[in-house]
Parts: sequence; structure tokens; C-alpha cells
Amino acid sequence: MTDWQKLLHERSVRSLQQLVDRFGAEHFPDLERLQQAADNFEFRISPAMVDLIKEPGDPIWRQYVPDLQELEVVDGIVDSLNEDADSPVPNITHRYPDRALFLVSPVCAAYCRFCTRRRKVGDPEKIPMSQFESAFQYLERHTKIRDVIMSGGDPLLLSDRRLDQIIGRLRQIPHLEVIRIGTRVPCHLPERITPELCAILKKYHPFYINTHFNHPDELTPAAVKGLGMLADAGIPLGCQTVLLKGVNDDVKVMKKLMQKLLTARVRPYYIYMCDQVAGTEHFRTAVETGLEIVKGLRGWTSGLAVPHFVIDAPGGGGKIPLLPEYVEEITDEQVVMRNFRGKRYVWKQPRTEEALVGAGVHEPEYGFLPSFEMEPGKNGNGKKNGKRKK
Ligand code: SF4
Repeated sequence: MTDWQKLLHERSVRSLQQLVDRFGAEHFPDLERLQQAADNFEFRISPAMVDLIKEPGDPIWRQYVPDLQELEVVDGIVDSLNEDADSPVPNITHRYPDRALFLVSPVCAAYCRFCTRRRKVGDPEKIPMSQFESAFQYLERHTKIRDVIMSGGDPLLLSDRRLDQIIGRLRQIPHLEVIRIGTRVPCHLPERITPELCAILKKYHPFYINTHFNHPDELTPAAVKGLGMLADAGIPLGCQTVLLKGVNDDVKVMKKLMQKLLTARVRPYYIYMCDQVAGTEHFRTAVETGLEIVKGLRGWTSGLAVPHFVIDAPGGGGKIPLLPEYVEEITDEQVVMRNFRGKRYVWKQPRTEEALVGAGVHEPEYGFLPSFEMEPGKNGNGKKNGKRKK
């Protein structure tokens, strides 16, 4: 057993009783029913996440501790993204023209109660490790696929040897230009990021990692160190964050998270609305909450820290971006818009040739830019050769 496997095995929380012993029975008034919720989905909290819980009900607790509300299914759907319908062979989902999802691992270091794939994650029968050959052959046959995303479960819970074999085989497929891994290991089990792992991954560029952090507290010194090691291996790092009630449905929390990610050399990539998955409805927020968060990021912090805000459309429609209303009106003549402070600006559309002839000689009316008077034969940059109008 490697050090990280030993750590995961020996120090994870795997039962409600361990939680009762650690936090007190008063936080678990209906243990019997809670056990039913726990039994509906794999349960494990990794050492790093257990250590991060400050008190029952806090943002870390909410993500991993089973909740009675998981038993109250209203309009949740088991396979909300309809992934199984787009699965031509076991372990592959092929929905978009040039990319495919390849489930390579059934297990995770910690199991997030809001997991979109909770219908199969944690269950080796539903993400079988013995049927990779048909997946490889599918990827080999479909030459339009240029980008493969390894997911699961968490691919980085595979052993170094297994990962090397799988990625090595993928790299032999000439049309697979890009290989990506989706992993929560930098957050859940940063000890897994070893020099040996980095040495393997860096052999396979162009190779990308999309990780998953939901709260600024998750960027512990160990997580930041692990992310730095991956970045030093030349791996571009992105982050997918899920908008979760009681965890990060707050502008300040999200801003801090995005800023801390950038500092840890991770580019925020997506904020997802929590999917309509059965058993996770208590995590869902209104879309307006997400739009307010994007509004609170754009302009108020570096553009690098502003991810795309998307809904992964139920039924398999794919990711649909959502934007706060910045544009008030678009006509043939102009665009009327508001900036991040709500101030109104007008941008003139380029004039068509007909309009120019009709208008005769004119000065552009840009409204928010100073205008310049050109001197004949000069380039009009307004400083050296052009004369700025007062
Ligand atoms: S790490 Fe990812 S796949 Fe695993 S339980 Fe969490 S969200 Fe699901």
C-alpha cells in the first residue's frame, strides 16, 4: 500500500457512528432514518475533509455528511443529464461531436452528497473496471473525437501503474489530441499528488486537469502544494465549482474562492447550477443566486477569476451559459449596455457603406471616447500626430 492509500484507508470516516463519536450524538437525532440516507449513496469523508469541518452544518459538513433531506425526492431525477442514453459502450458517454467522457474509476476519496453521478459512483458494477477494451476500441474507431475526458469516480484514485497504462493507451490513438482528467483529489486527498504521479502525467501533454473546489477553506496549504506540483509538471489547471445552498451561495464566499484558486495557479472554469438529481434537492438554489454571484465577480475582480456560469441542461442538452443582463438594446445603429457598476454606455455599430454615403462627411460619435481631429497624412493616434480636441 502506498502512503496515500494507507492514509485514506486508516483515517477516513466511513460510518455514522464515527461521526457521532467525533461530533456528539445530539447532532444526529434520527440516526435510524439517517442511516437510510447514508445507505442510498456511498459514504466516505477523506482525512483532509474531516479535518476541515469546524462545526456541524458548516459548508464542509454539508457537502459530505448524509442528511435526512436526501430522502425527500420531489422532482429530482436519477440520471438527470441522461448520460446513460448517450453511452454507446460501457464507461463511455459520447454526446458532443468532438469529445467523449470516459469513466475510468468507480471510487472517490470522499463522496459528495450532491454528486450528479451518485446513481453509479462508488459502485464497481456500474463503472466496471473490466470493460475498458470496448471503450478504447470505441475511441479508436471514432476519429472525430479529438478530446477525451477521464472521469468517474475519481481517476486519480487509480494506482500510478494503472493510470500510466490507461493514459498511455489513449495517447496511442492519433486523433485524440487532448486528454483531460476531472478530479477532486487535489481537494480531497492532496497527499495523492506525488512526484511519481506528476512524472507520469507530464509524459502525456497536451494534458489538462479540471479539478473541483467549492469553498475557499478547501484550499488548504496541502491542496495548494499539490496544485503547484501539478502546475510545475506543465499541466494547465481549471476548476469546476458547483453552486450549493449553504456552501457557497454567497458572492463574498465565491469571490474569495475564485481569487484563492487563481493564487493556487488554477483558472476558474465553470460554476455549475446544482443538477436536478434525486436526493440532492436541498442543495439547489434559484438561478438568480448564480446570476448575482457572476454580477458580483465580473468587474469587481480580475477577469481571470470569472468562470462561465452554466446549467447542464436536464435530459442531456449539454452546458448552457447564463449571463446577467448587461445589454439593454441592440439595433443596427447601436448597442446600449450597462457596465458592472450599472452605468449606461452606448457603442455605435459600424456604419454600412449606404449609411456612410447618406450621411456625408461626419465625425464619429462614440460618446464615451474622446474624439480626434486628424492632421492630413498623419496616423491620428491623438498624441503625436493627431491634435486632441478640447
Ligand atoms: S468527487 Fe466528483 S465523482 Fe466523486 S462524489 Fe464528488 S462530485 Fe461525485
